[in-house]
Amino acid sequence: MFFKKNPPTTKKGQFRLDFFKNSLHEWILKDDQIKKTIDIFFNTFNSEVFDFFNGSKKLMILPSRGNWACAIPHTDRAHLILIYPDLIDLLKSNNFRQGLAILAHEVGHIFLGHSDRKIDPEDAQFEADYFSNLLGFGVELILFLSVRPECDKRYKRLLELRGEEMPPSTL
Ligand SMILES: [Zn+2]
Repeated sequence: MFFKKNPPTTKKGQFRLDFFKNSLHEWILKDDQIKKTIDIFFNTFNSEVFDFFNGSKKLMILPSRGNWACAIPHTDRAHLILIYPDLIDLLKSNNFRQGLAILAHEVGHIFLGHSDRKIDPEDAQFEADYFSNLLGFGVELILFLSVRPECDKRYKRLLELRGEEMPPSTL
């Protein structure tokens, strides 16, 4: 036998197995549309992200009450993302990729260890947006931010980062 690094497919398989065997994720399995969307989401993860969540603390995504979503990094047992009704609706709509852009932003906060670092809250937002962009949701995140004046700085920064003057007019 020789040492062989796990290919990403195995990492992904392990991650999916752990994620969906958690009974707290039954709400995802119960809804075909959400399930499909979440699978599309996991397909954007690279090896590093799978390694991170295949560690001792697993990723959990739970429905809750509030606006959009919120990341709660490493509680005792898990990295938790609370996902709120408006985001669940978005994930079930034709614009589901905008919802995944938000979810990727939350995963970014966790993966980038923002709760453990001295980081300016605004910079943390930019970094999480950049992470979402790296997973492939830049266009959708720009669209989401573009209609929210309170997100104007993030919107402009993300456009700048992507070297774009204007958001793409067609999707
Ligand atoms: Zn954020």
